[in-house]
Amino acid sequence: MNLTDSVSTLPFVGPSFEKKLKRLEIITISDLLHHIPNRYLDFSKFTKIKDIKPDELISVFGEITSIKNQPTKSGKLMQMGTLEDDTGRINIIWFNQFYLARMLIPGTKVIISGKASWFNRKIAFFSPQYEKMDYEHESVHTGKIIGVYPQTAGLTNKWLKARIKYALDRIEIFEFLKDKHGLLDFDDAIHKIHFPRDSEEAEEAKKRLAFNEFYNLLISAKERKNKLLKKKSIKLEIDNKPVNEFIESLPFKLTSSQKKVVTEIFKELRKDTPMNRLLQGDVGSGKTVVAVIASFVTFLNGYQTILLAPTQILANQHYETYKKLFEKLTIRIALITGSSVKKELGKTDIYIGTHALINKIKEFTNVGLAIIDEQHKFGVKQIDFLKNKNPNRLTMTATPIPRTIAQTLFSDMDLSILDEIPENRPKIKTWLVPNEKREKAYEWISEQMIQHGSQCFIICPLVEESDTETLKNVRSVKKEFGSLKLKFKSLKLGLLHGKLKEKEKNQILSDFKNQKIDILVSTPVVEVGIDVPNATIMLIEGADRFGLAQLHQLRGRVGRGDKESYCLLFTENESGKAIHRLTTLTKTSSGFELAELDFKLRGAGDVLGIKQSGFGNLKIADWSDTKLIKLATEAVNNV
Ligand code: ADP
Ligand code: MG
Repeated sequence: MNLTDSVSTLPFVGPSFEKKLKRLEIITISDLLHHIPNRYLDFSKFTKIKDIKPDELISVFGEITSIKNQPTKSGKLMQMGTLEDDTGRINIIWFNQFYLARMLIPGTKVIISGKASWFNRKIAFFSPQYEKMDYEHESVHTGKIIGVYPQTAGLTNKWLKARIKYALDRIEIFEFLKDKHGLLDFDDAIHKIHFPRDSEEAEEAKKRLAFNEFYNLLISAKERKNKLLKKKSIKLEIDNKPVNEFIESLPFKLTSSQKKVVTEIFKELRKDTPMNRLLQGDVGSGKTVVAVIASFVTFLNGYQTILLAPTQILANQHYETYKKLFEKLTIRIALITGSSVKKELGKTDIYIGTHALINKIKEFTNVGLAIIDEQHKFGVKQIDFLKNKNPNRLTMTATPIPRTIAQTLFSDMDLSILDEIPENRPKIKTWLVPNEKREKAYEWISEQMIQHGSQCFIICPLVEESDTETLKNVRSVKKEFGSLKLKFKSLKLGLLHGKLKEKEKNQILSDFKNQKIDILVSTPVVEVGIDVPNATIMLIEGADRFGLAQLHQLRGRVGRGDKESYCLLFTENESGKAIHRLTTLTKTSSGFELAELDFKLRGAGDVLGIKQSGFGNLKIADWSDTKLIKLATEAVNNV
């Protein structure tokens, strides 16, 4: 049996169980063996029946001397049994397991594990673990430390454990480390994580498996890097005159941070190895124009650029930005999303789109640069779409990634950081608004908008932590939209959510951009990247439901022009913790600081949007385990 075999090769795993296992993301034997207990019950203490005390976790070895089904008052069946050893007898009661009367017939030797308690002034077991014992096999479910697995409907702990045991007895697991760094053998760890002798063994086993997780991430990054470096890439020339002219023609002066990053990128585009660079920059730091300049250089060299955005809204916006900034030049830009293709005749110079682009366009013959915006919204699979070609890659993200994580997940990339916000940008005043001031806040918003001709976002949260909008969420934003319309009678309101058709979404956004809509009521679909410089107020409902980094992203939708901007946070959750978290946001304007905090408070998954993409999702290890990350890094460096 091999780790890569399908679980369906195990006995008792037919199509129905295979499906259930799949729900736990268990497809191969390896997945099964890496589905590890989230806690352990210590049944290792054996007791004679006469010494059993109530509420003690113990195991008893004995013989079933009687068992029968008996109806309960509520009409269900309970199983009344007796267990004897050479010191005494104890009653056992199970509920609704009628088959036990046939399975544990008198004379059956069993181990019973659990806690006893008082019943009719006698001590008895209620629904204990049981396991038939025949002296030949070691017990699996009783009489020792027993792992408890995180479960889902339809798969019991006992069933899972039996499948794992079967696989463990037959599998051969090969060690891949030359130097063990004082860790357990891989093989040993896999056995001990499921069937440890004590909790220390379980800990040791978990450490080795956690190490493997980091190691595997690092190794794949290293492999990606080696693969990339092996191939030659297109070497681009930087023709200073037209490039500088283009930069001069932009509607603003580049920040020194943008200049620095542009220089870093140019330096690499000139090389004959491909660029693979991660551009990190806080919300509003101006990443897009950096991408535009790199695309321009690529165009001047006669190559194509591909720009991938995570949403249609964003793809559309990039398309508009590119068209505007290249207005005076003859550069052909195509916009390709799930539902539309906007393409001029002839050869396209720049493709902009969502990942639908990957499947629709087969003519990427001449790609010199691939740009991926808001990278964390994609999985690694999509990032790999150009595996057969070898263009330069620029990946952009507004999510500041803590160093240790960046160095593990993205150690194949070089890092550029935009750590400066364009100068004319006012700070966004952020308030946590108490509920009794809600009406006052609405009045204030009306006044602001009428006085300054500015615009406002009102964000209603998703009920679930997920990117997919359920109908329930849409209903709640629709309801809110209805009542807001009554509150802001003299203003024009628009409604945006992910369930709208692409056309409708784009229409509403362009109406908002063109100031035909004053207040945009929306779910967090506007979170990433939307740029409407005339919008100055961001109101967020249910703010406690969002992570700090996400709130910061939302807040970053305003304060993009030169007008004073505001972010108003509302929450029904007035727990100290929620208030504390939200207050931090009112005091901090640095996305990097907030992300670090979020990382501590909520874990890496939320910060990176890992949950949606699955990329970097750790099953066993913990991102805060910097010691183990260091160890794994050393190990990978020595390979
Ligand atoms: P992000 O980094 O969040 O993607 P964008 O690229 O959307 O930010 O830029 C945000 C806004 O700042 C845009 O309206 C853009 O035109 C503007 N901008 C970019 N660079 C500068 C600059 N150097 N000076 C002034 N405004 C800038
Ligand atoms: Mg952006």
